This record gives sequence, structure tokens and C-alpha cells, in this order.
Amino acid sequence: MALKTAEEYKKGLRDGRRVFIMGEQVPDVTEDPYIKVGVETGAHDYLMGHDPKMRDMAVMKDPETGEEISSYFEIPDYPEAVKKRHELIKAACYYADGAIPFVKDVGTDIMNGLKVSARLMGNLEYEGRIDDYRKYCARNDLSIAGAVTDVKGDRSKSPSQQSSPDYFLRVVDETDSEIVVSGAKAHITASAYVDEILVIPTQNMSEADKDYAVAFATPINTPGITQICRPSFRYEDKNHFPTGKPRRGHVEALVIFDNVRVPKERVFLLREWKFAQHVAYAFAAYHRYTAVTYKMPILEYMTGLGILASEANGIQNKSHVRDKIINMVKYTETTKSLALAAGASPEDFGGTGLYIPNRLTANLAKLHFASNFHEFIRDIQDIAGGIVVTQPTYKDWENPELKPYLEKYLGGAGNYTAEERLKLMSTLHHIVASDFAGWHEVCTIHAEGSFAAQKMMILMEAPLEMYKKSAKDIVGLNVD
Ligand SMILES: Cc1cc2nc3c(=O)[nH]c(=O)nc-3n(C[C@H](O)[C@H](O)[C@H](O)COP(=O)(O)OP(=O)(O)OC[C@H]3O[C@@H](n4cnc5c(N)ncnc54)[C@H](O)[C@@H]3O)c2cc1C
Repeated sequence: MALKTAEEYKKGLRDGRRVFIMGEQVPDVTEDPYIKVGVETGAHDYLMGHDPKMRDMAVMKDPETGEEISSYFEIPDYPEAVKKRHELIKAACYYADGAIPFVKDVGTDIMNGLKVSARLMGNLEYEGRIDDYRKYCARNDLSIAGAVTDVKGDRSKSPSQQSSPDYFLRVVDETDSEIVVSGAKAHITASAYVDEILVIPTQNMSEADKDYAVAFATPINTPGITQICRPSFRYEDKNHFPTGKPRRGHVEALVIFDNVRVPKERVFLLREWKFAQHVAYAFAAYHRYTAVTYKMPILEYMTGLGILASEANGIQNKSHVRDKIINMVKYTETTKSLALAAGASPEDFGGTGLYIPNRLTANLAKLHFASNFHEFIRDIQDIAGGIVVTQPTYKDWENPELKPYLEKYLGGAGNYTAEERLKLMSTLHHIVASDFAGWHEVCTIHAEGSFAAQKMMILMEAPLEMYKKSAKDIVGLNVD
């Protein structure tokens, strides 16, 4: 099958999937005003394959058939593949007006993590299954959500110690040919508008947890799967001033698995509890790098918005504003530099012959990004002024009785007319002061793992012994 067009991708989403939003079942996710934001954003992964400007990067040849497939499906079995993937994801974000399309990257990050884990286990059957699944998705040009995070109940307890057996997804039945799973995965991005869902464990497991050590893939319209989505913002918002580019973003869902049957050829881990953590860790090694990659275009345009706001208010040359602009540039460029450094020194993961970004630097990049984002927002809010939250809406601007007041009183400095300033502040409201802005702040902390997850990996990967040795040499200590 050839690479799908964006229209074919959307057509594939009308498949009887069971999706709810705001208490109502959604008959067609491509038409729902909230979910459509994500559908249109995700569609960029399909537009790229047909755009002559993007094809070199977005399309590769299937190594076996020579057919054109999406480059997201490339196996990272040579060091340069890591940097290539970074360039692909970054280009996709610029292409999708600053947002990550997301419907292929997390799924392929999990495929890469599962392949690494299967090699570390020495399990040729699992490796063969994940290879077959990759080929199936590539050759049918499918979109895939990644479901890692369980609802978890009491965070201080393991899956088997919970008051409810359903706080982590688990195997509830098994035959020779299939498994049956029940449970729920939380906060799953784009699951309402993909073809497949790829599920892995979220953490380490003990022997008592072995039924929870499961990884598998299944079509998202499989009977037993119900999705409850949370709206972020509507595709069309008439309160905002129209902008040059549409607003992009995603929708998350609580994905419930109620006795879902999965054939064994789509099962990639089954009760090998010792390897649950390997799978989660290998996926995180890929996905945290994806995360910092897609932050790069976002930080660039947000810094630009802050600078424009200073100009529209005539304060761009004031010393305290220049300090804030320097801070914004420092934050953006440091995050970008760390992301670039992670890709510049890829590692062979555990001698598997599969390459990952440098784990220490990728986690430092994500931690740096997440730790400083709120301060970055604060600086933009400070520069922009209270108008960010109090400005009249576009509907007021369109009212001929009110427009002259807005033109008269809300004009900007220098070259900025009232309309230009209001248009800019309306965009800023969306980015730093709306429901979506709150979503973005929380997303920055938790998505792709909370602070503690990055700190744990930093401690695991940092050259602590090298630091200690150089200190011992200086002090003259012989202790082990
Ligand atoms: C916008 C968004 C999109 C997301 N998309 C996806 C997705 O596509 N797929 C997916 O699988 N997940 C996704 N996630 C989930 C994300 O990975 C989790 O939010 C993150 O791992 C934190 O888990 P949690 O939300 O359950 O918070 P919690 O784990 O409850 O964390 C809350 C706090 O508790 C601490 N904590 C938790 N457990 C322990 C413990 N055992 N010991 C000590 N401290 C602990 C944490 O460090 C944190 O400080 C997304 C999240 C967001 C916000």
C-alpha cells in the first residue's frame, strides 16, 4: 500500500471506535470541534509524505520491498539514525505550525524500546513479533498512540498491593492463541485519532505483579476499548482574533480496556516481570529525546511572542525587559543545545546494535526544559501586561458600535495598530493565559515523565565514579 494521504488517514478514523467527550459519544472524531484540533494536527504526518518540500526527510524505502514508507518507521541500527529522527520530528513540528503531529512518533519510540528490550532478553520470538508489527504499520501507513501510564491508585504500592486489582492494566485470561486484558491507561495523547494503540508497562514489577507485566498492540476500535477524552480548546474559537495559522494541539484520553482480546502475535511481553522496567526504561530513552526535540520550535515562537509583546507595548529597550528577553533566549537556546548534544553522541544500547540518544544529556535537556518553563511563561506574562487576560474579544471588535473605542484606546506603540496589538495579545492569551496554557504548564512537568523520572535517569547515567576518581586523585585518597 502506498503512503496514505491526509484524507485517507481521516477516513480511516471513521471506524466505529468508542470515544466520548463531555459526556457524549462522538459519532465521527474528524468532525468533533474539540478532537478535530488533534486530527488536523496529526494529519501533518500524512501531508508530509506527499509534499515535495518534505519528502526527502519524511519518506524512506522499505528495506525489503523497496516500497515507500514513512521515515518514522526506520530502525535505529546505525548511529546517524538518531540525529535523522531528531531532524524529522523537528521538521514535522515546524511543518505543523509549531505543534508536534504526534501520531507516529510515540508509537515508533515504543517499537524501538521493545526491540531493544527483546534483544536484551535474547527473545527472538518477541523481536520477530515487534519487527512484523513495525512492517505492518509501515506498509499500511498506520498511526499509533503509546499507552504507558497506568491510573496507579496508591503510588506508594506495587500493582499487586493495590486495593483494586484494576489500578494497573493486566492479563485476566489466556488461551494458546490470545490474551485477554483489562485495566485503564491515563492521559493518552492522540488515542482518539489513531489507528492502533501500543501498550507497555509503566514501571518495574515484582513476581507478584507478573500479570501486569504485559506489552501488546491492538487496533483502537477493538471491542472492549472505550475512550473518555478531555477537551483542550475548540477547532474554531470565535472569541479570538483570527491568526495567520490555525491553532494546533492534542487531546488526551482515559483509555479503558474491558476484557480486550489480543492475538499472541501482537503480544511483546507476557509475564516476564523482570523485564517490565527494561521496556519502560528503553522507551523513555527514546521518548524523552522526542520530547525535547518537539519543544524546540515551541520555545522559539514563544520567545518571539514575548519580544513582539515588548515592541507592541514600547518597552523593548527598557533594561528590565531586556533582562527578561535575555532570560528567554538563554532558556530556549540552552534547551536546544542540550537536545542537539544528546543527538550528537548516540549510544549503542547495551551492546544490542540499536542506537539511542545520549541518555544523560537527553534527560538533562528534558529536566532543564520542565524546570524553567513556568519562569519563562512568567516573563512573557510580565512583558505583555494585564491586557492578556482582560482584552475584549474578537466579537467586540466586530461590533461597529464598539470597534471605534477599541481602536481609540487600545492602540500599540510604534508600528503596532490597535488591531495588530489585540491580535498579538489574543494569541498570547491562548499561549500563556488560557485553559490551554494551564494544560501546557502541567504537560511540561508530567508528559514524558515527571521530574523524578528524569532525575532518576540522570543519576543512573551520570559518570559519578569518574567524578569521584578525579576528586580522590586531588585529595590523595585510596578508599574504594
Ligand atoms: C498532557 C499530557 C500528555 C501525556 N501523554 C501521554 C501519552 O501519550 N502516553 C502515556 O502513556 N502517558 C502520557 N502522559 C502521562 C505522563 O507520562 C504522566 O503524567 C507522568 O508519568 C506522571 O504520572 P501521573 O500523571 O500519574 O502522576 P503521578 O505519578 O501521580 O505523579 C505525581 C507526583 O507523585 C510522584 N510520585 C509518583 N509515584 C511515586 C512513587 N512511587 N514514589 C515517590 N513519588 C512518586 C511524582 O514524582 C510526582 O511528583 C501524559 C501526561 C500529560 C500531562
